[in-house]
Order: sequence, then C-alpha cells, then structure tokens
Amino acid sequence: MSEIFGRISSEESMGLLDGPGIRYVVFLQGCQLRCLYCHNPETWAMQGESYLITPQQLVEKICRYKPYFGKDGGVTFSGGEPLLQPKFLLECLKLCKSKGVHTALDTAGVGFGDYGEILKYTDLVILDVKAVEEDEYKKITGKPIAEFKRFLSACQLQEKPMWIRQVIVPNLNDDTRHIQLLKDFIAPLKNVQKVELLPYKTIGLHKYQSLNLPNRLGDIPDMDEEKCKKLEELL
Ligand code: SF4
Repeated sequence: MSEIFGRISSEESMGLLDGPGIRYVVFLQGCQLRCLYCHNPETWAMQGESYLITPQQLVEKICRYKPYFGKDGGVTFSGGEPLLQPKFLLECLKLCKSKGVHTALDTAGVGFGDYGEILKYTDLVILDVKAVEEDEYKKITGKPIAEFKRFLSACQLQEKPMWIRQVIVPNLNDDTRHIQLLKDFIAPLKNVQKVELLPYKTIGLHKYQSLNLPNRLGDIPDMDEEKCKKLEELL
C-alpha cells in the first residue's frame, strides 16, 4: 500500500479558539471555496506554500502535547478545508482516537470522500456556515450550496455534536434578517452545542496584495465587535 501524505499549511501547538480546552491545531492546505472575506487566501491552492507529512508523523507530534490537553482539549483539523484531503484526514483521526485524543473538525463542509466514515472518528464538528440561502452562499463562496448540505446531512445522521460559526461582515450579513435566517436554519438541527458570530477583520488583507489577488470586499471596515455580540444575543 502506498504511503499517505498530507499537505499542511501550518500547525499551532497551543490553540485556544478552535474547540474546547487547549488544542493542537492543524491547518491543512487547499480550499475549493473563495469566500469574499477569507483571511487565509494562502491556503487556497493545493500546491501552495506547504509541507508534506504522514499521519503517523503528525499524530506523534500531536501526542507530545497530550499532557496540556487536560480533560477538554485535543486536536482540531482546520484549513483551508480539511475535507479536501479525506484519506489523510481519516488516518489522522483514527490514530488520534486510538491514542485517546479528542478530535475536532473545523470545516466549511465542502470536500470529498466518505463524510460518514470521517465523522465516525470526529468528536466535534465546528461548522462554518457561510450563508443559508442558495444565492447568497454562491455570492460569498463562488460555489453552489449542495456539497455543504451533503456534509450537514452526514453530521445530522450521526447526531454529531456541533458548534456553528458564521463570520459577520458589515453591509453583507450584519442585520436582523440574516440573524433570523441563521436562527431558523439552526432550530431543527440536532446536537448544536454552541453558536458563535465572528466579526470580520481586515487583518488578512495584505495577503491579497502579496498573492496578487483582488480584494473583492473593497474598503469594508472591521466588523464592530459590540454590534456583533448584540446580534449573537439574538440567536
Ligand atoms: S472556507 Fe475558509 S479557507 Fe476556504 S475560502 Fe472560505 S474562509 Fe477561506
């Protein structure tokens, strides 16, 4: 059997934002979406600046941090889009579970492969909801919403614990209509443990210049954090 390699953009050993407790966060290279507000465009290209690693090598590194994980922490596979490297991801998840490490998947739900199998070894899904209406989803990501729905159905079938996240951008979705849409979308979902609105930040804009990519959001400023918190309270 040929060895599986994963393409990694970066790793963070003591992450506090992407899941419960202290986490080892692995950012996988590659994403099919082109979100208007993406602050990591360097992770888009499958062959972008990245390095190769086997699941065994990666999980060995993750396990060195096990003493810091405590009862809540663990590993989070993020990106880019972790579901674009399903074989590598599945192997990593299986190895982590065999070593008793809590696993989270931080995803927009648009990749390849057998989502059901991947989810069997995933303890928590942090689902990045771009938009819930077909047209708006396409406007924000450049892709149809169907694949996201396929992934969501697989999560629901297994009743996976989920955290729902949405980035809030001034003049794009920072109004009560959008919050109501999100609320209606979440209401029938099983096992949603947390809902977070993330204020858009212009901090990654310089990357577009250095990668020679157009900034399609133009001069839109940072999202006001207080306003974002107030919108979150409506959920
Ligand atoms: S899914 Fe994430 S990495 Fe991909 S374009 Fe959107 S924000 Fe960027």
